Amino acid sequence: MFARVIVDISNDAVDRIFDYRALSDTKIGMRVLVPFGGRKVMGYVVALTNQTDFDETKVKSIIANLENEPKLRPEILELSFYLARHFFLRLSDCIKLVLPSCVRNFSQHEQTEFILSNVYDIETSINMIGNRAKNQLSAVAYLNEHAEEKFSKMVELFGRTSINALVEKGLVLKTPIRKMRAPEFTGENVKRNVLTPLQESAVNQISGEDKTFLLQGVTGSGKTEVYMNIIERAVNDNKTAIMLVPEISLTPQMMSRFNSRFPGIVAVLHSGLSEGERFDEWERIFSGEAKVVLGARSAIFAPLENLGVIVIDEEHDGSYISETNPRFVTHDVANWRARKNKCPLILGSATPSIETFKKSMDGEYTLVELPERVGGLSMPNIEIVDMLGEVMDGNTTPFSRALLSGVENSIKSKKQSILFINRRGFASFMMCRECGYRAKCDDCEVSLVYHKEDNELKCHFCGKRYRMLTNCPGCKSSNIKYGALGTERVCEDLRNLFPDVPVFRMDNDTTKGKNGHKKILEEFSKTSPSILVGTQMIAKGHDYPLVNFVGILDADVSLYNSDYKSNERTFQLVTQVAGRAGRKTDDGSVVLQTYAPKHYVYRFAKNYDYLNFYHKEINLRQTTGFPPYSTILRILVSSVSDNRAKEVTKKLYDLALEIKQKHRGEIIFMQAMPSPVKRIQTKYRYQILTRFVPSDTITKEFYDICDIIEKDVSIFVETNPNNLR
Ligand code: ADP
Ligand code: ZN
Ligand code: ZN
Repeated sequence: MFARVIVDISNDAVDRIFDYRALSDTKIGMRVLVPFGGRKVMGYVVALTNQTDFDETKVKSIIANLENEPKLRPEILELSFYLARHFFLRLSDCIKLVLPSCVRNFSQHEQTEFILSNVYDIETSINMIGNRAKNQLSAVAYLNEHAEEKFSKMVELFGRTSINALVEKGLVLKTPIRKMRAPEFTGENVKRNVLTPLQESAVNQISGEDKTFLLQGVTGSGKTEVYMNIIERAVNDNKTAIMLVPEISLTPQMMSRFNSRFPGIVAVLHSGLSEGERFDEWERIFSGEAKVVLGARSAIFAPLENLGVIVIDEEHDGSYISETNPRFVTHDVANWRARKNKCPLILGSATPSIETFKKSMDGEYTLVELPERVGGLSMPNIEIVDMLGEVMDGNTTPFSRALLSGVENSIKSKKQSILFINRRGFASFMMCRECGYRAKCDDCEVSLVYHKEDNELKCHFCGKRYRMLTNCPGCKSSNIKYGALGTERVCEDLRNLFPDVPVFRMDNDTTKGKNGHKKILEEFSKTSPSILVGTQMIAKGHDYPLVNFVGILDADVSLYNSDYKSNERTFQLVTQVAGRAGRKTDDGSVVLQTYAPKHYVYRFAKNYDYLNFYHKEINLRQTTGFPPYSTILRILVSSVSDNRAKEVTKKLYDLALEIKQKHRGEIIFMQAMPSPVKRIQTKYRYQILTRFVPSDTITKEFYDICDIIEKDVSIFVETNPNNLR
């Protein structure tokens, strides 16, 4: 019997399948130890066959199976083949996606105790060690006598170097004994709600059918309650469920709701977990103990068996498409798993992506609506304030009069306000008014942001920090201009205006650390009156009953992002942020500040008119030939050497021209140019942008020309990018 093995080496050149002789109990999906170019490396068995295309006499044997039961189950293994095919990825990268690093590297796992045992009989071991390494010989002899022993004990007896050497050589097998870290659940207990008739009807419309449903429900319409009922139905049916949310650590409330509803059987996967905790959660899923998985994008790879439903909450969110290699689109993966398990896939949102909504209009998805807030509460009124008018009236502060009175009223009624500004720090740049000098990062082609609290300038692209400027390094002038305001500045101004009211700030700077978000949100929820200032992380899913005022300070930031999704994204953002107001009482209101008060995005957002926004936007996409009526493909070439990056871009462009020749008429646009951000983390960046009539063939041809290895250069291809920097 032969095993087809993918070796786990991070080297592009060896992304191939190699054949080895299987051991008697080698199984598909197992991690194994194999000889590879004079070394011993780990690999994954992806198939077993009776014959090999290689010279049989030269095929080497697997050294050892690294586990008794494969960690890659058939469905997940098949999924990685699908990923490789569908997203044009390397199979080894796909295996890294489906098996998290905490599982792949579990032998290096610190917090877990390990058991050691001999792989070979004692004679073979002695032969392989030779007679020089006395400690190693004693160790295998000891294991021969005791059958197995704890890693820590063995290290104590024979020294860490010898033990590690034995493991490394594959003579001794190291398996973890699990010490479960009890999943932490500190959240409050959330009681179960009796469904409203609208919710009831939504639950009934979403049957157990093998279909995709779009659950479009306004903010506060009780979508989560609907998901939980459907998940409960699946669990009662002895099935399992995956519920994806944009970033679970942002929404501790969601965790409490799920843990209360499904005690003991929820596994949570999020970025705030330590490797050890992640490993435990994964094991709970793998063993079948956890039946409901709640997590961010990569939770879609959770090794649950017998899936009964998959939910993608806030399906329009950009985080469902990964921005680095290996790049995948969560919706496609979810669709594959749902079809495989013949179960429903539910996409939920108040503001579905244009692409998703089109599919529901075309009948590919079944649309289910929740048009009202729970309890018949009205949607908060959105007032659009023309900031130019404010300036004309002599108000040059960042706060319009309407916004300030909104905050004041909220304070008077002892309630809470949320103010949204999608920029962190104090000022977005520092510039000399005399000579035009602008403080930039050494490693990135971007302005540095002033952070007053740390009295530093920071690069938001690479994190590098710089000393604050008091004088211009060029002309020594102290006449420094501060760029657009960010969250720090807004908080400072508010504290001056309302000295008695607590102001909380939630952005990437204040939410570091394990429970960063949770702490701020807990404090905020206990304090009224109070004000919460934050970036887009406050837009998502929060449900605080006392919030009766929401202010959007500078909505235009996202509107003028100048990519084809910016209208869509702004509409979504405004609706989501506004949706935080008046979720339990009828007194919610919203002020939106803009310099483009007549823009159709705001006009439709003000009336919560998704449908007409959609019609306008889809028309625009059709007439201008943008997705979903075309595919945008971007090839990003980056290198620390500017010349090398240019060279490779040129080379790829020439190859791309051939594709263009071949598909004349289908390729609408193609151009090579420096990326909008020309340098990030010391790497120069160039791009080839192309737009063509959607076609798998053309897409594949572009991916194929990029499948080359260029020294010191990285090439990244993506379609319909979320962000073009
Ligand atoms: P969405 O996800 O659509 O924004 P949620 O599911 O968070 O809405 O529900 C909004 C609020 O209404 C939550 O506080 C939730 O507990 C409450 N809620 C939802 N369904 C009901 C119900 N049937 N009865 C009473 N309250 C409900
Ligand atoms: Zn100057
Ligand atoms: Zn930088």
